[in-house]
Order: sequence, then C-alpha cells, then structure tokens
Amino acid sequence: MAETLCVIALGGNLGDVPATFRRACEALSDAGFRIRRFSSLLRTTPVGCEPGAPEFFNAALSGFWDGTALDLLRICQKIEADNGRPNDHAHHVSRTLDLDIITFGREIIALPDLTVPHPEAARRDFVMVPVREIEPELADWLLEQAKSKTDSGG
Ligand code: ADP
Ligand code: MG
Repeated sequence: MAETLCVIALGGNLGDVPATFRRACEALSDAGFRIRRFSSLLRTTPVGCEPGAPEFFNAALSGFWDGTALDLLRICQKIEADNGRPNDHAHHVSRTLDLDIITFGREIIALPDLTVPHPEAARRDFVMVPVREIEPELADWLLEQAKSKTDSGG
C-alpha cells in the first residue's frame, strides 16, 4: 500500500505531558509510523473541561503511514490507553494523552469511529497553530475543507 502523509494532534494535561508525548512518538515509530516533523509545544487553557482543570500541552506531528486510517486510529487508541488514559473516557475531561488524526492525505473519511479531517480541527487554534508550523499546505487545505462544508450548509 502507498504511504500516506498524515497529521496527528497531541494533547494532554495530566502527568509529565512532554515525557508522554515522547513515549507516544516512540510507540508510533515502533508501530511503523515514519515521523517527519514535530511541532513546538503549546501551553493552552482547557476548553470545556471540568472547573480547575490544569493547562494543556498541545502539539502536532506529521509522518508517513502505509496502512489504513482505521489501523492508525486503533494504534493511537492503544497508545492513549498504554499511557494511562481509561477506555471509558468522556469527551472534554482532563487526560494524560489525546491523539487525534487530523488529516490522512487529503482523504475525506466518514466512518462511525473516525471522521477525517477532524471536524473540530479548523476551529481550534491549539490544533491549527502547530499544524501550520509543520505542514502549512495541509493547514490551508483544512481551512478550505471547513469553508466548503460551511458554504454547503454542512
Ligand atoms: P476529543 O479528542 O474530541 O476530546 P475523544 O478523544 O474523547 O474526544 O474522542 C474519542 C473518540 O473520537 C473515539 O471514539 C474515536 O473513535 C473518535 N474519533 C472520531 N474521529 C476521530 C479522529 N479523526 N481522530 C481520533 N479520534 C476520532
Ligand atoms: Mg481524541
């Protein structure tokens, strides 16, 4: 299968998050994901989390993957779990590690478990700033996709 250039957003606000991000990169590499670029770390105010939630670290990485998008999602979910994130995790709560697939080439994916490009990416500065740093053309493409969705009422 041909290699696909993917962007993954990383977030976390519990524990030693920079160390968790390093472990996540190692685990992705061990799984066969070829990391190309890793952004600077951002410190960001929690969005929609419980009151008093610690600040987040956010970052993005890009790299090449030669499996399916669902394979990559399952690997990301296993890495989240291996780094202390419970399986029954609710949306918008503090977490050790969040790995979101932001783009998978320029594919549009709408599966029950996987929406790509990530539907909230274009609205979130904590995603777009690191993505623009490492893959500016994909950041532009994400904004175009979000705009064409809005224009068509989606
Ligand atoms: P958020 O990242 O919005 O805080 P969660 O990480 O708690 O939310 O959401 C996890 C769920 O999101 C998983 O069940 C996963 O199947 C689903 N999901 C849908 N699209 C994506 C994507 N592009 N990347 C990662 N998870 C996704
Ligand atoms: Mg997530």
